[in-house]
Amino acid sequence: MVAHLKKEHTLVIIKPDGVQRALMGEIIRRYERTGLKLVALKMTIPTSEMARTHYMVGGEEWLENIGRKAAVAYEKKGKKSPFATFRENGVAILEANAKYLSSGPVVAMIWEGHQAVGIVRKITGGTEPLSSDVGTIRGDLTVDSYQLADSDQRSIRNLIHASGTPEEAEKEIPIWFEEKEILKYRLIAEQILYDVNLDGILE
Ligand code: GDP
Ligand code: MG
Repeated sequence: MVAHLKKEHTLVIIKPDGVQRALMGEIIRRYERTGLKLVALKMTIPTSEMARTHYMVGGEEWLENIGRKAAVAYEKKGKKSPFATFRENGVAILEANAKYLSSGPVVAMIWEGHQAVGIVRKITGGTEPLSSDVGTIRGDLTVDSYQLADSDQRSIRNLIHASGTPEEAEKEIPIWFEEKEILKYRLIAEQILYDVNLDGILE
C-alpha cells in the first residue's frame, strides 16, 4: 500500500467542557481502540487569539458559509436572523467559538492512520449533540441543541473539535504543534492493520 495512505493526520481537541466533565480518558479510549496512532498530545489553555486563528483557517469562505448555515436554520424555525449579512452571523459564531475554546484547559492531539480524518469524524458524531448518532462521543456523552445554544447566544457545546478534511487538518495542526512535537514511532498493532501478509503471527 502507498505509504501516505496509512499516515493521514487529524487534529482532535477535547474542548473545555470535555475536560471539566472528566471525559478525557473516555474520549481518548474511543479513538485509541480504533487502531489509529496517537502521535502528539498536550494540555494547554488557548488564548482567544489562538482560538480565532484556529477557526479562521477556512478564511472568509468559512465565515460566509457558517453564517449562511445559521441564517438558514433561523429561517427553518420561522424566525428572522438578527444579522444583516451571512458574514456578520459568521463573525458572531467565530467570537462565540473563540470564547468557548479559550475558556479553560483543553487537550490537543494528533491521530495518525488510514483515513484518520474520516474515522475520527465518524466516532465524534455530528455537530449538534441532540441529533448526533447514538454510539458517537457527541451523541452519547453530552446534551446540547442549537435551540438552547442560540437562546443563550453561545457556541454549541459538543466536547470535541475534529478536523473536517485532511486539508483542514494540515492548516490547523501547525497552530497547535511544532514539528518536533509530532512523534514518529511504530506501533506493533500496525502490522496487523496494514501488513499485506499478516507476517509475524506464527512462530
Ligand atoms: P464541527 O466541525 O462539527 O465541530 O462543526 P463546525 O466546524 O461547523 O463548527 C465549529 C463549532 O462551532 C462547532 O463545533 C460548534 O461548537 C459551533 N457551531 C457551529 N455551528 C453552529 C451554529 O449554527 N450555532 C451555534 N450556536 N454554534 C455552532
Ligand atoms: Mg469543523
